[in-house]
Amino acid sequence: MGYIDLHVHSTASDGTYTPSKLVKYACEKGLSAFALTDHDTVDGLSEAMLAAEKLPVSVIPGIELSCNYGNDEIHILGYNFNYRNQELVSTLKRLREARDDRNEKMCGLLKKQGMDISKEKLKSRFDSNAISRANFATYMLENGYVKSAEEAFEKYIGRHAACFVPRYKLTMQGISDLIRNAGGVCSLAHPVKYKLSDEQYDVLLDELKAAGITRIEAVYSRNTFDDEIRFKDMAKRHGFLITGGSDFHGSIKPDIDLGTGKGNLMISQDLLKNIQ
Ligand code: AMP
Ligand code: MN
Ligand code: MN
Ligand code: MN
Repeated sequence: MGYIDLHVHSTASDGTYTPSKLVKYACEKGLSAFALTDHDTVDGLSEAMLAAEKLPVSVIPGIELSCNYGNDEIHILGYNFNYRNQELVSTLKRLREARDDRNEKMCGLLKKQGMDISKEKLKSRFDSNAISRANFATYMLENGYVKSAEEAFEKYIGRHAACFVPRYKLTMQGISDLIRNAGGVCSLAHPVKYKLSDEQYDVLLDELKAAGITRIEAVYSRNTFDDEIRFKDMAKRHGFLITGGSDFHGSIKPDIDLGTGKGNLMISQDLLKNIQ
């Protein structure tokens, strides 16, 4: 039985492994396939696919996009789309420009709190086209402005904290249309993170279905055993297919490993048929 990972980040967004290094590591971990799902960008895909050409691992084109949902945000994974699709490429460019503007504004607010941080400093530290708040937290930690990433989010960059600046996002329908028009499929990322009641999850899945999204990442590194049963049951009731991923980011989220998550994650390659 082969194992896979359908949720992985590289240095093209806020991961710390380059796309080529990820491919090599996936081989070492014995994975038969993984999806590269960077935030707002497909820039890592060609490098990863090229690196995988002569190796026993397949790279699946993927992406992770965010949309607002109530007072929070949810993340949607896209798979198996044409990553050279014109509408996709131009929309992602717009999203990354908005992210850059947001990051510049957030640096301005953090400077007022006494931190020596700028877009250029972040870029030279992370060399990414989609610097996220996870990168901000790492930078703040490495430069002694906070004692932990949690503190960075609580005090400065979390949704309700002093230096948070929202960024332009697509809508749920916008994400669904973008990925479907490029020939792909979508899955609700890490449902466990949204901490909703059963009734609220039912509403969310109904809304996703109305937008054309009928997959859910029921297998996830931060799930408990009971969470996985809960989300699989939810998927069954709503007629959703399930997907699974670790959300590997390398050293910025050191407790999560590629494929195996916190140690006991196992994602069967049977799930590949669910993203066709
Ligand atoms: P951004 O897309 O730049 O707004 O950053 C979002 C990323 O920041 C998410 O994908 C998480 O990795 C991370 N993040 C957001 N909120 C928190 C939090 N409260 N604690 C830890 N990480 C968080
Ligand atoms: Mn991330
Ligand atoms: Mn996410
Ligand atoms: Mn992710």
